[in-house]
Amino acid sequence: AAARVPIMAGNWKMNLNHQEAVVLVQKLAWTLSDKRHDHAKVEVVVVPPFTDLRSVQTLVDGDRLAVKYAAQDVSVHDSGAYTGEISAGMLAKLGCSYVVVGHSERREYHGETDEVVNAKARKALDAGITPIVCVGEGLEVRQAGEHVAHCLTQVTGSLAGFTAEEVAGLVVAYEPVWAIGTGEVATPEDAQEVCAAIRVGIREQHGDAAADAVRIQYGGSVKAGNVAGIMAKDDVDGCLVGGASLQVDEFSGICRFY
Ligand code: PEP
Repeated sequence: AAARVPIMAGNWKMNLNHQEAVVLVQKLAWTLSDKRHDHAKVEVVVVPPFTDLRSVQTLVDGDRLAVKYAAQDVSVHDSGAYTGEISAGMLAKLGCSYVVVGHSERREYHGETDEVVNAKARKALDAGITPIVCVGEGLEVRQAGEHVAHCLTQVTGSLAGFTAEEVAGLVVAYEPVWAIGTGEVATPEDAQEVCAAIRVGIREQHGDAAADAVRIQYGGSVKAGNVAGIMAKDDVDGCLVGGASLQVDEFSGICRFY
């Protein structure tokens, strides 16, 4: 993992209004600067709700904060009669560096398939935004021992048709659904097993350069107290953090895992 810059992304989900968002990002930036966090060494990304993005943009730009920000979802459409949807072009205009696509909560509650996730990631790339493509198995798949095959199928479908250069630049997040929001973190060995398999799969389908460069995150009940063991694994290049990203001390501790 040495050549890949680790990336810690905090997915706030449907929490915090735009005023609370500004307070949290300010506190996070101050805390990281107090801890002399080196943003070139570990990239820090917050993932607020859509309604907070403009406030976060103004704060980050105005105060020249090194924190980056992402959206939690993006439309498969460019514009038009799609009530409630947000396009990749709109997110690019707001300065989003990343967008999360295919989070398990989108797959589960909104029926998102790998085909939809693929289309969303395509729109993000076309708009100059880096997708964070989420995959992961549920408990039944894990208990049946089919977690690796399941995740590889999701990766193949979600990255279909992308060039090697595009795959090299994006982020894949491995998030076992049974570990999300449950307090049940995967062991570092569990995380490494699937992240390594994903890299092998990408090597076979997209070549060495893509496999060596693509960053693969682990997500699922990551906290300041368990992050070091997970990050010590060769094929884990960062974490996608839910609950703990709403607490400044926890998230800054995760960003300062080294
Ligand atoms: C997530 O939502 O991506 C996540 C990993 O949540 P948590 O850290 O709360 O398990």
